[in-house]
Amino acid sequence: MKIYLDNHATTQVDPVVLEAMRPFYTDDFGNAASRTHFYGWSAADAVKKARSKLADSINARGPDEIIFLSGATEANNLAIIGTCRYQRKKSGKNELIVSNIEHSSVLDVAEYLESDGFIIKTLNVDRDGLVRASDLKEMVGDKTVLVSCMLVNNEIGVIQDVETIGKICRDQGVIFHSDCAQAFGKTRIDVQKMHIDLLTATAHKIYGPKGIGILYQRQFKPRCKLEPLIYGGGHEGGMRSGTLNVPAIVGFAKAAEIAIKCIDKDERNVGALRDKLLLGIKKNLDYVYLNGSQTSRIYNNLNIAFEYIEGEALLTFLNERGIAVTSGSACSSLKKEPSHVLKALGVRDDLIHSSVRFGLGRFNNNSEIEYAIKVIVEAVMKLRKLSPLYEESESKRGIH
Ligand SMILES: *Cc1c(COP(=O)(O)O)cnc(C)c1O
Repeated sequence: MKIYLDNHATTQVDPVVLEAMRPFYTDDFGNAASRTHFYGWSAADAVKKARSKLADSINARGPDEIIFLSGATEANNLAIIGTCRYQRKKSGKNELIVSNIEHSSVLDVAEYLESDGFIIKTLNVDRDGLVRASDLKEMVGDKTVLVSCMLVNNEIGVIQDVETIGKICRDQGVIFHSDCAQAFGKTRIDVQKMHIDLLTATAHKIYGPKGIGILYQRQFKPRCKLEPLIYGGGHEGGMRSGTLNVPAIVGFAKAAEIAIKCIDKDERNVGALRDKLLLGIKKNLDYVYLNGSQTSRIYNNLNIAFEYIEGEALLTFLNERGIAVTSGSACSSLKKEPSHVLKALGVRDDLIHSSVRFGLGRFNNNSEIEYAIKVIVEAVMKLRKLSPLYEESESKRGIH
């Protein structure tokens, strides 16, 4: 039995998506920039349709506001570095505001810009993982170029009140970027209503292929200009040169179409599985704590601290029984540091090390979750038997 519960790291490609992509590898393999023959026209037409579909999916004003690039990491880089460099030259503004639970592809970019002379201000979240609007209001100033705040967090699934954050930015004349890699296709996004000027999304988190993403760049009221990071043939309006990955672009649009069509169904079905998993764990185990807001949370996420055990030990146990989960964030787990997100919530160090992230997806089913509950409960009980601290606390409670 193999059970995948790490859908925040990536997702399997939906077979329907793969089928939509296939002709663009075999028959219609043209370069979308080839203007002189029907191979090129066919590829360009497919890209045009995909671009419109993706623009519509976030209520963008037009397809010219979508830049195709390699994924959310690149989109975050282009959005933030591109805007900051452009604005420093144009207006002399040199200040950037980011929340302290952003993905490493935002936080590391901020660190780089700091070394390049920008002033970085960090917006600290509360114990639930939520940004306080009043903090942002106080922080925004005359020198602020850009605010970057994600819609859904990749570790704890917390959903920010992006509409309020966007409104504050708009009122102050500050550009607002939102990393929506975990939100796009799972919750409704409207860049007009939410006042989002730059938006990041990626296909491989919504059952599409890896290596393709978009940056939405508002072109009207305000027009958000960028300095490109990659120079060459002038593709994507000069914002991102390089031959377009046509099959992946077609796959992204197909995955988005399915996700948006299934948005309520997925929330209902996957949400029910997620609730079942949480209930099953809580019913059978004590000393378990949910990290992050209970209520403002995406339907497929759980991040749970199992006190008195090491998350890594639990992962090993689950791995041996065919269950794939992660501790901390998969995206930053190349760097072996305790989660900056859980730290930001003020979670105790020992509980950070006891925390495991469960990311459910559309392809999980009921029997998988029942099996997972059984194995998790068994694992935690076994591991706690080896923990002197657990024994001690149990005897204090008079159980032994
Ligand atoms: C996965 C993820 C990224 C990185 O996406 P890639 O397309 O793999 O570069 C960025 N931000 C968030 C919130 C993510 O979940």
